[in-house]
Amino acid sequence: MYEKSLAELSRSLKAGEVSSVELTQSYLDRINTFDNDLNAFITVCPDLALEQAKAADERIVAGQATPLTGIPLAHKDIFCTEGIKTSCGSKMLDNFIAPYESTVTANFKAAGTVNLGKLNMDEFAMGGSNENSFYGPVKNPWNRDMIPGGSSGGSATAVAARLAAAATGTDTGGSIRQPASMCGITGLKPTYGRVSRWGMIAFASSLDQAGPMARSAEDAAMMLNIMAGFDPKDSTCMDRAVPDYTATLNEPLKGLRIGLPKEYFAEGLDSRVEQVVRDAIAEYKKLGATVKEISLPQTHHCVAAYYVIAPAEASANLSRFDGVRFGHRCEDPTDLEDLYKRSRGEGFGSEVKNRIMVGAYALSAGYYDAYYAKAQKLRRMIRDDFLKAFEDVDVIMGPTAPTPAFPIGSKADDPVAMYLGDIFTISTNLAGLPGMSVPAGMVDGLPVGLQIIAPHFEEARLLNVGHQFQLVTDWHQQKPEAI
Ligand code: GLN
Repeated sequence: MYEKSLAELSRSLKAGEVSSVELTQSYLDRINTFDNDLNAFITVCPDLALEQAKAADERIVAGQATPLTGIPLAHKDIFCTEGIKTSCGSKMLDNFIAPYESTVTANFKAAGTVNLGKLNMDEFAMGGSNENSFYGPVKNPWNRDMIPGGSSGGSATAVAARLAAAATGTDTGGSIRQPASMCGITGLKPTYGRVSRWGMIAFASSLDQAGPMARSAEDAAMMLNIMAGFDPKDSTCMDRAVPDYTATLNEPLKGLRIGLPKEYFAEGLDSRVEQVVRDAIAEYKKLGATVKEISLPQTHHCVAAYYVIAPAEASANLSRFDGVRFGHRCEDPTDLEDLYKRSRGEGFGSEVKNRIMVGAYALSAGYYDAYYAKAQKLRRMIRDDFLKAFEDVDVIMGPTAPTPAFPIGSKADDPVAMYLGDIFTISTNLAGLPGMSVPAGMVDGLPVGLQIIAPHFEEARLLNVGHQFQLVTDWHQQKPEAI
């Protein structure tokens, strides 16, 4: 059963071939068997999941099911879930039981999906390898010595290891696409403003966006149908009609104009990853697409701009965790300053502290113009590069990450090497564009993703382009042997 796609599961549930309770129990059993080692979950909710499954079964019998009613999912632990611990991967929130539900998870609840639990992640979504979690690193199910990618590594591992039918993730600079690439699943970061951020713990508010992490583009389309849409509680969420993302999956690709940025095939890209991407492009040519070299001249500035803007926003967002209103509180403070210092010192991990310091520095009066204001100017130029490129092409393709997954611990002492792993994903967040990673090949037994980027609000095009590739390839159907 756990090999079935969301569409197949939906049909089986409606036909009464399996109940949601049975399906949920089988996923809970798998979590029991595999997750001690993989560490994809921070919290598993067996009682709640079985209760939701029972309600879903009743809803199906009553003929009131949505396409995802009864399907067991899991959510990144960045989404507030009422009555369930929501840690954001941090000691700071280790004892936080959310008093309300995020819009994304509320939408899934309303659709009747089952919540198996909350998924591991880098602390406050800061990281590209899932080694920064207070709850320990997540392992890559393809090779357990390897990172799964981050920060939504728990989501990617859970989906790749079939511990959930699909999952939610969030992407501030690549955290959906990069772990999707490294774990061999399909992940989509929507346009900024397509999905509500309400109840999603903020990292960098102008970049954060939630999206689906699933086994195929079709599954991702079914997930996005539930996630996308206007929310009056998020003032950056766009009031714009949501198409049925499954309706256009089968449009032919003949005449599709693909742009390949020459800056994405330069130094630093693993030649074996490059080969996977070039082979994927060859498949698209067979499907009738035309390919053209383009240029995104600001590419080399993306990492620098991001690592000023994201920490600046993070330092402001994380100031609320003061041990008074929010977050871990130290024992026996002697005065207010001691309370702040020790609560924050104990509650945050070292990467988060790094970012708070960098961000506070970049925003300080004497340096604001030199760093933050300059980074914002670059951000506009990066966006303009993309808009210009999209005058001539329909989608942009390239690698999702410069390398396959690397060994846990191997980049621990080299933050710059770690940050450079985001080079191909960060620019879409800075530009607000939607991007997707689809499994496109293997290198040394590890999956490699192809990244596809589309103009603002063209998620349907991305899903169509991903789905057509998945009709003629089977990379998305491969699964880790030991699983
Ligand atoms: N790896 C990037 C960072 O560390 C992106 C993280 C994300 O998208 N949440 O900030």
